[in-house]
Amino acid sequence: MVWDFSTEPEFQEQLDWMDEFVREEIEPLDLVFKGPGDPFDPQSPAQAAMAPLKKIVKERGLWACHLGPDLGGQGYGQVKLALMNEILGRSRFAPSVFGTQAPDTGNAEILARFGTEEQKQKYLQPLLDGDIASCFSMTEPQAGADPGEFQCSARLEGDEWVINGEKWFSSHASLAEFLIVMVVTNPDVNIHEGASMLLVEKGTPGMEILRDSAVGPQPEIGTGVHGYIRFDNCRVPKENMLGGEGKGFEVAQSRLGGGRVHHAMRTISVLKRSLDMMCERALSRRTKGQQLSDMQMTREKIADVYTKIVQFRLHVLYTAWLMDRDKGYSRAVRREISAIKAAMPKVLNDVVYTALHLHGSLGMSNETPLIHFWQIVPEMGIVDGPTEVHKLAVAKSVLREYSPSDDLFPTYHVPKKLEAARKKLAKYL
Ligand SMILES: Cc1cc2nc3c(=O)[nH]c(=O)nc-3n(C[C@H](O)[C@H](O)[C@H](O)COP(=O)(O)OP(=O)(O)OC[C@H]3O[C@@H](n4cnc5c(N)ncnc54)[C@H](O)[C@@H]3O)c2cc1C
Repeated sequence: MVWDFSTEPEFQEQLDWMDEFVREEIEPLDLVFKGPGDPFDPQSPAQAAMAPLKKIVKERGLWACHLGPDLGGQGYGQVKLALMNEILGRSRFAPSVFGTQAPDTGNAEILARFGTEEQKQKYLQPLLDGDIASCFSMTEPQAGADPGEFQCSARLEGDEWVINGEKWFSSHASLAEFLIVMVVTNPDVNIHEGASMLLVEKGTPGMEILRDSAVGPQPEIGTGVHGYIRFDNCRVPKENMLGGEGKGFEVAQSRLGGGRVHHAMRTISVLKRSLDMMCERALSRRTKGQQLSDMQMTREKIADVYTKIVQFRLHVLYTAWLMDRDKGYSRAVRREISAIKAAMPKVLNDVVYTALHLHGSLGMSNETPLIHFWQIVPEMGIVDGPTEVHKLAVAKSVLREYSPSDDLFPTYHVPKKLEAARKKLAKYL
């Protein structure tokens, strides 16, 4: 059995190159282009600055590495992708420059697996090339975590699906050439059998984006990238159904799992940056006649933060390894994905808060990235499903492996075990 934590030297070279490229060439974009849609919006002025960088990434063979070779990626697998995402998570622009930005990654996978030839021609290639944006639209104003409450529906009329209802927080809806929308097609069965996915093209009559919501305290209402959408007798052709009637969750699962893991991989870089900043600050700041780094309480903080990061990182890498081993979303994989998803806001909270706190007023200011990291903490507890729901999934999966004691006392009840041990070892006693 192999239990190996090393990285091949050739791949480490790629990672080293990426690390420098992200720091030197991509991070400056984060400082200059502040619009919420800049990394994703094909019309943003940032695109001109990103174009030569994307070219370099493509020439180096590192474009869209989440994809298999059939779709123009490297087929590196999840462990290598994890190591890459740990670097890309440093910058808001880096995933787009490397062709691995959400939600386009998952949407491309859906199109590749479930789209018709015509849909693939029209949308898949431009999406893979990074020329257009897309949207995945599932959450509704009255329901997110519990899809059983979804109401947005579609009924078949002749050769068309007619969609009615609302969607909420659909990221990049205003920028997208197409949306993948979850609709209830059979309200009489459990939602997991009654939901389907429809591809809706930009500008389809009957689809209206009521406004865009922003994450965080943006001063203007309507300035974000998360669309509030209304469908009013919006008609799409019958063949726009992806994956078949009632297969909505099967289709969604193929992307949501990946999305959650990629968030966790990128989170590692936020954690590492926080630790880097903490350590530098502790070594740079003097108080009460000594370095902050010499004070025991600071040292305890650094040790705790370091340990939490290593634990989380190993859990993410283990999940990635399981995905490579099981070639997809086995039960074991789904459990670990939920576990790291649930762990993410807590580890972010502990690490980012400690780093921010150690920076004092500077940490609270808009002059370091720490206050932006702080905003990610609650976001990661909500996006792709709240923590509670993932904890419930983990517990359900763990409990499945156990059964109740067949006795009044636990299976390992000392009196019972002692009696058996005494019998077994009687000749020595
Ligand atoms: C930045 C961001 C981007 C997003 N992008 C998209 C997107 O592109 N497309 C899309 O469709 N959606 C998107 N979402 C929406 C996201 O998927 C939902 O916010 C999420 O599923 C939770 O749904 P909700 O907001 O309706 O919260 P609710 O379902 O109302 O949950 C709110 C709270 O209720 C509690 N709760 C809920 N269920 C349970 C339970 N079973 N047990 C115990 N407590 C519970 C939890 O405390 C939870 O945080 C995005 C969200 C964010 C923050």
